[in-house]
Amino acid sequence: MTPVIQFIKKQIVSEQSNNKPVRFQVYTEHQLEKIEALQQLPEQQRFEMKVVAKILPFRVNEYVIDNLIDWNNIPDDPIFQLVFPQKGMLSEADFAQMATLLRRGADRHLIQQTVHEIRQRLNPHPAGQLSLNVPREENERMEGIQHKYRETVLFFPSQGQVCHSFCSFCFRWAQFIGDKELRFSNKEAMQLYRYLSRHESISDLLITGGDPMVMKTDHLANYLEPLLTPELAHIQTIRIGTKSLSFWPQRFVHDADAGELLTLLKRMVQSGKHVAIMAHYNHWREMTTPIAQEAIRRLRETGAVIRTQSPLLNTINNDPAIWARMWREQVRLGMVPYYMFVERDTGARHYFEVPLARAWDVYRKAMQQVSGLGRTVRGPSMSAGPGKVEIQGVTHINKEKVFVLRFVQGRNPDWVQQPFFAKYDAEATWLDQLKPAFGESRFFFQDEYDAMCEEKINPRTYV
Ligand SMILES: *Cc1c(COP(=O)(O)O)cnc(C)c1O
Repeated sequence: MTPVIQFIKKQIVSEQSNNKPVRFQVYTEHQLEKIEALQQLPEQQRFEMKVVAKILPFRVNEYVIDNLIDWNNIPDDPIFQLVFPQKGMLSEADFAQMATLLRRGADRHLIQQTVHEIRQRLNPHPAGQLSLNVPREENERMEGIQHKYRETVLFFPSQGQVCHSFCSFCFRWAQFIGDKELRFSNKEAMQLYRYLSRHESISDLLITGGDPMVMKTDHLANYLEPLLTPELAHIQTIRIGTKSLSFWPQRFVHDADAGELLTLLKRMVQSGKHVAIMAHYNHWREMTTPIAQEAIRRLRETGAVIRTQSPLLNTINNDPAIWARMWREQVRLGMVPYYMFVERDTGARHYFEVPLARAWDVYRKAMQQVSGLGRTVRGPSMSAGPGKVEIQGVTHINKEKVFVLRFVQGRNPDWVQQPFFAKYDAEATWLDQLKPAFGESRFFFQDEYDAMCEEKINPRTYV
């Protein structure tokens, strides 16, 4: 056999052995002790995980444990960091308070109360999501819908408010802790369609969660099919935000209704909609298993376009080489790199955050290592209250060192693409820590944004 044929044979065998259906087995906070792979870790480390899992949502499935984590590299393994709680994710004080309660076996009521207090300190609702983005009709809030930017509406279907595993840095963590008032979800799909049909300027519907791909195909079809009516012809793109290509690629291969799901997506495409799978990838490791690649292949076959996005995260992907390899691999597999985000100011942010100056450096060095097809990524971008602000670079203007910034999305569409400047700050990790450059006192958008906050209205959310 020639080496090439030998190689191909080897690939096929490994695909067959790796592509066997496996059961979806998931572990949450109360089942930490049942995870076999954790038994090898010291008692102390397992206790620390339990403390953190009291506060931040924890959920992991066996596919991730068995296929994506290198258990010889704990705790540094990036996927271990991505899904398992780490001591540093809480402040020292919060950690100590919780650890003490658990150690002395405090009563449930006291533990719950402390859990609640600590969570409230972690900025559960960043960027005005609850106060500004939820539209009103006849003065009633339309829960389950967010409308921040003119062209795009976010919809949170109630059956999709969980994920196949949870990311430890998730900016939507507050949705998963069972606090009803914190959850966006919507049983009334009709409300969504009415809203969409009244706003011709909306071209994109982003179905998000949680992860909409946890839904049965039947449920997803109930949401998608009405979008084909003539009244919604202006909705040209249906985006589906998902991490299932990483955490449960079986969704597109072995799940009982995988075939129907692919058929549904194909039908939407053939009816003239652009179906965009907004795939969340944090590390190239997530794309390495045969089943993950098979899932990508099947999804692409439907005519859907897969676009990829991720935040930059310390301990997971704070390295240009990781991003360059990830983007190259995505392009090779036929996906389109779309966004690099700055870790948001919520939850375990202190554990994962990276200075803006570093974020730009990682982005630039990664971009330099890929061809033009990988340079479709926008970023690093902060999803802040006023809009998505991209760090375009660091430079000197009249001897002053500055960040060059621009809105890639704004609550006021007029702000988009307008460059502006902030004083360079080596430590800053978020927009609210930046000061205008050149001795100016306010950023150009600040007064208008403050007024929106004061009146608790976003221009988008009028009906
Ligand atoms: C990022 C984002 C969008 C989509 O913005 P695009 O630049 O079109 O990808 C829409 N709504 C919200 C709230 C967002 O954060």
